Amino acid sequence: MTLSEMKQILAAGGVRLAKSLGQNFLHDANQLRRIVAAAGLREGDRILEIGPGLGPLTELLLASARELLAIEKDRRLVELLQRRFGTAQTLSLVHKDALDYLRQHPTDWSEWKLVANLPYSVASRLLVELAQMERGPRLMVVTLQWEVAQRLLAQARGEDYGVLTLLIQLRYQPDGWFKIPPSCFFPEPEVESACIKLIRREEPLLPLDQGRIFSKIVKRGFSQRRKMMMKLLKQDWDAKAMEDAFDRASLSHQIRAEAVGLDKFVELTEILAQAKPNGDE
Ligand code: SAM
Repeated sequence: MTLSEMKQILAAGGVRLAKSLGQNFLHDANQLRRIVAAAGLREGDRILEIGPGLGPLTELLLASARELLAIEKDRRLVELLQRRFGTAQTLSLVHKDALDYLRQHPTDWSEWKLVANLPYSVASRLLVELAQMERGPRLMVVTLQWEVAQRLLAQARGEDYGVLTLLIQLRYQPDGWFKIPPSCFFPEPEVESACIKLIRREEPLLPLDQGRIFSKIVKRGFSQRRKMMMKLLKQDWDAKAMEDAFDRASLSHQIRAEAVGLDKFVELTEILAQAKPNGDE
């Protein structure tokens, strides 16, 4: 889909773009091909696309997918997509907020791939939602804000390292990325973009029921970045149990969360899963 085709479809449909829905459409054929190549599509693939927009990516995905589920929040775009792809048997088009859909339709996504140019304002929340599922997609190839991609790729001690990094990397391993310049979108976004590939870990680092504890530790640990992590965690756990846990994990009592790697957060979770939290839990 070329830029002029895109403009034509929008004008013919009388659609004015909504900034709040992050409607920046990707028209650069080369970048679209790179995204599809990163997803390594095979004929039997089941694909989830969030925010198909005018369908430039949808069109390419349909060529190889066994099944494509596309969730779009904007009714006007859903109507345009229905007109354009209405006859495609392999496409299920859903008019809904994707976050609501994921929460309201518990699904085994484990054999699915997410391939999407995500709405930037909800990209992180969507990824966390999928990553925390028992059966999340086996692969996620997503285009999002460059700053968010940096956080997904970050390592301990890096300035982008934080809650998002850890919640995603617990279940997914980043496996490459590339930048997409603003000029490839219409209208051009004010921020830089990147496409990033995330592969689900074959062996989960923690059993699912400990994921909640991991998330609690991570969020509390980063709640005040400059403070010592142990002090922060003592708000939720018994002080002595916390000191023992840090000793067992060979962590300094003075360390800040930003210097604690994923492996150590996992180890702390395993230890604290056996300890009694303060308060009602
Ligand atoms: N995939 C298209 C492309 O590459 O040109 C469009 C991508 S655009 C960045 C994001 C799309 O997500 C828009 O079509 C927007 O209407 C849709 N959208 C925004 N918020 C959404 C949500 N919460 N659930 C589903 N779709 C959403």
